[in-house]
Amino acid sequence: MQNNCIFCKIIAGEIPSATLYEDEDFKVIMDIFPAAKGHAIILPKKHCENLYELEDASAEKVMKVARMVAAAIKAELNCDGLNLLQNNGEVAGQTVFHFHIHLIPRYRNDSLKMTWSQGKYEGQEAVELAKAIADRLIESDRKANI
Ligand code: 5GP
Ligand code: ZN
Repeated sequence: MQNNCIFCKIIAGEIPSATLYEDEDFKVIMDIFPAAKGHAIILPKKHCENLYELEDASAEKVMKVARMVAAAIKAELNCDGLNLLQNNGEVAGQTVFHFHIHLIPRYRNDSLKMTWSQGKYEGQEAVELAKAIADRLIESDRKANI
């Protein structure tokens, strides 16, 4: 548990939360300021700040939790879609520095905007950048399959 981490305090039960799922590794709660009703956040119980710090074991399990909770949200709310969102760093919109994944129910006529203007690559830029990033995948079992 990290001092002064609001999500660690929620996980420890020191701050109340509307909890919809809990197991030994994760707690899933309702976001207090929901983008839509049913907006939930998945919290790993072991504190880590962001995706870069997330341990493999948690990373392997977290998408299974996301899939399970997404299906339950869809079944309950009959939403038309659902966004998974995960922010890393202040510039990316992270405000609580304990890794979490948002599940946000979406509806055909909702007013939420999660769009960006479409950029473009010149020439071989995308291929070269892919190669440069692939070269940084140091561990051979994580090497991009190119
Ligand atoms: P971030 O911006 O870091 O991706 O998301 C943090 C989320 O945590 C926000 O959507 C915010 O509404 C939510 N949040 C912040 N404090 C609390 C809290 O005390 N309880 C709950 N349930 N959610 C919180
Ligand atoms: Zn924490």
